[in-house]
Amino acid sequence: MSKPRALIIGGSMGGLFAANLLHRAGWQVQVLEKSTTPLTSRGTGIATHAGLMKVMELAGARFGEALGTPINTRKAFDASGNILAQLDTQQVMASWSRLLSFLLEALPSDLYRMGKMVTSIEAGDAKNKAIVRLAGDESIEADLVVAADGYRSWSRHHLFNAPAPEYAGYVAWRAMAPLARLDKAYQDLLHDGMMVSQLPGDQILGYPVMPSDNNNDVHINIVWYRKTNTDALKILLTDAQGVQHSDGIAPKLIHPQVLQNLKQQAADTLHPAWTQIIQLAPELFMQPIYDSVTTSMAQSRVALIGDAAFISRPHIGQGVTKAAGDALCLVKCLQSNTNDVLNALQIFSKERVAVGHQVIQYAQRLGSVISQPGGELASWSQLYSNVANVLRDTAVELDGVACV
Ligand SMILES: Cc1cc2nc3c(=O)[nH]c(=O)nc-3n(C[C@H](O)[C@H](O)[C@H](O)COP(=O)(O)OP(=O)(O)OC[C@H]3O[C@@H](n4cnc5c(N)ncnc54)[C@H](O)[C@@H]3O)c2cc1C
Repeated sequence: MSKPRALIIGGSMGGLFAANLLHRAGWQVQVLEKSTTPLTSRGTGIATHAGLMKVMELAGARFGEALGTPINTRKAFDASGNILAQLDTQQVMASWSRLLSFLLEALPSDLYRMGKMVTSIEAGDAKNKAIVRLAGDESIEADLVVAADGYRSWSRHHLFNAPAPEYAGYVAWRAMAPLARLDKAYQDLLHDGMMVSQLPGDQILGYPVMPSDNNNDVHINIVWYRKTNTDALKILLTDAQGVQHSDGIAPKLIHPQVLQNLKQQAADTLHPAWTQIIQLAPELFMQPIYDSVTTSMAQSRVALIGDAAFISRPHIGQGVTKAAGDALCLVKCLQSNTNDVLNALQIFSKERVAVGHQVIQYAQRLGSVISQPGGELASWSQLYSNVANVLRDTAVELDGVACV
């Protein structure tokens, strides 16, 4: 009997977890990634969790001791360097590029096709296979389509009719600089933990990572969240030619005046260790923060996973773990419902939509200290104005997210 065929749309975290797990479960797999350049070049830090490592093992990723940088503490300090709170806890901080490399290495390379842009999908039904169409007129039939195509997902928009992601009222600036290039006092302050500082409407956190699989120099990765109204956001998204990049602006296109203002504001308000990283970083990435939900993750033969389904605010440090858990849950449901993809997907959807909502709610509570909303989140904003509570609840693993 021939193997059932799965097409995976998107070759990033969610797509690679799904591809590896399905391949190991006996499916014939093909990943279709629209990018023509390797995704490993995206350089940012990723907090890991025990559940994520278990799913990586199941997916065949051999990371050994090389996943990332272990940390043993979390500390909060103010602009003068006074330690406000401390929590001893262990975690491994990985980089995007390393995680992705391990997942890519686990998959036979001929199953991963780059420069393949999916333009439409027919979801199929119990009798008919799904059909995926690519730019350039190629079309492929499949028993299962896994849409792991991120928050601008074609399927999310056209097949699932899910609401557009909602702006959370703040942005994240991300940067990385080599630890060894910082002043000695700042190295001592930042080298061994997740460090946090916050002011009303601002929160900055940093932790050590090794940036890529071919660079073992420890860097400090920072994320600086800043409350930003929609008018100010438009300015951040507008380049020097006056073009507004509503879907996100590439680092090289950010207006020089925006960067200059940011650096000045850092110098005026933050501890100088943070300011030095912002000055030294070769690039500053700016990402508006969104909440994105859906009521269903299954449509006939199409499953929606990762950020294509739910995007939670990053404070939870669990976007990759959630994508991994979605993929694992999908494969478990398919294994216990062999020969009935449609039913398996319905069971998968029910289970993971509940997890998605749980994650979104937890992350909104953490983020409320930056956006400072009224209503029921106001009490959470108050709770997290005490930075000891931020240390305790940021980037901790939630039960069930990894589905292990
Ligand atoms: C500031 C910030 C900090 C974060 N920190 C963490 C953290 O510490 N820990 C953590 O776990 N997560 C973190 N995340 C979240 C994490 O990065 C995402 O949740 C994760 O990348 C989601 O993976 P994905 O595969 O679902 O989507 P994506 O990574 O967005 O990938 C989607 C892929 O689909 C491809 N694609 C799109 N459309 C098509 C098409 N039509 N045809 C073919 N291919 C297509 C894209 O090119 C892309 O490669 C953070 C996010 C932000 C913004």
